[in-house]
Amino acid sequence: MPTKRPIDKILVINSGSSSLKFMLFSITTETMLAKGLVERIGDVGGNLVYQRDDEPKTEQAVNAENHGKALALACNMLVDEQRGVLASLKDVDAIGHRVVHGAEEFSDSVIVTDDVKNSIKQCAALAPLHNLANLDGIVACETVFPNVPNTAVFDTAFHQTMPKHAFMYALPLKFYDEFHIRKYGFHGTSHKFVAQEAAKLLGKPLEELNLITCHLGNGSSVAAIKNGKVLDTTMGMTPLQGLIMGTRCGDLDPAIIFFLARKGMTIDEIDDLMNKQSGLKGINGLGTGDMRDTVNAAARGKAAAQNALEMFGHRIALYIGGYHTLIGGADAIIFTGGIGENSVPGRKAIVSRLAALGCKLDDAKNSAAAGEFGYISTDDSAIPAIVIPTNEELMIARETYRLLGGAAIS
Ligand code: ADP
Repeated sequence: MPTKRPIDKILVINSGSSSLKFMLFSITTETMLAKGLVERIGDVGGNLVYQRDDEPKTEQAVNAENHGKALALACNMLVDEQRGVLASLKDVDAIGHRVVHGAEEFSDSVIVTDDVKNSIKQCAALAPLHNLANLDGIVACETVFPNVPNTAVFDTAFHQTMPKHAFMYALPLKFYDEFHIRKYGFHGTSHKFVAQEAAKLLGKPLEELNLITCHLGNGSSVAAIKNGKVLDTTMGMTPLQGLIMGTRCGDLDPAIIFFLARKGMTIDEIDDLMNKQSGLKGINGLGTGDMRDTVNAAARGKAAAQNALEMFGHRIALYIGGYHTLIGGADAIIFTGGIGENSVPGRKAIVSRLAALGCKLDDAKNSAAAGEFGYISTDDSAIPAIVIPTNEELMIARETYRLLGGAAIS
């Protein structure tokens, strides 16, 4: 009989169409041991980035024809004599995978089985590029680690508690029934992580908390959380809906699409326009979707960049006000993601619009909060505004541990 040992080393995989990101955790201490990524899978000129927790990152040219080869390159680093962190690949106890779309099939993370893989394939109708690439990562791991359990953690799962009146669009019913057109929401892993961290911080069970979580990065979304469950979120059937993002327009009058089509633009051109040329990139007059560039140009007096920052804050404040009403009053507003964690003017553009809710920005605290946990509201603010750095990979590792929890590995 082989001896059994508890789960500790969890490998987290985020497999995209041309890249594979990996992170290895010791989950019992919640320590990240090493991380990296393989870029340009299936193409020439690939790159392997690797970083051990205690060392600077390094890059080397590689060729990875497919996800299996990319994983093998990552594994070589993890067991490398000089720079590795594992004595053997046999030390990996479990693998957690990010999966983008779980549709209505998955309202929680799951242990991967053949049925689960088939369902992920079926959900790919809603996110073809993402889900099939996520599946490639799972299959690669099954080959390299034949006896190690895999889990799937879905970006959409945390939002599956949305009631029908929140997730339906006002199209004729058959479009929901036949084509599953509805709001799904994304960034669920991040919203869940910061909600759980907020509960720890506020010293209350998450089920007793009403929160508004703002994940603001290149892609951005806000979630309304009532008694620990998502009631609504700003992204929709796809990640295009909702906020003004780096290159995505977010909400607009859908008739603009017909108008542009009648002007002669093809559907693909409109898709590219709204997903890749719009948002901050489209409106700040700079041609980049980066918040830092926007803020710097605004500070130099560039009117388009100043307006972009105001549009960004206005749209988010609009949702926060609505969500505050719908959840019966927020106990806290949480900021996370690259902008939420770091951008002092970005947060100010939002919180300065929330005075009617009694949420008051503390300028000094806002200026001090950069990349780490911190309150940004005044002590007498009716609703605290708090920066909580997200960690989606750790959340995937935690979910993996929870699903396999108590189970011992042979
Ligand atoms: P993604 O959605 O691609 O994961 P991130 O969460 O990394 O994106 O967020 C990227 C955004 O965060 C960019 O707009 C960037 O300008 C902004 N950002 C990142 N770091 C900082 C910083 N130190 N100060 C201000 N903005 C920042």
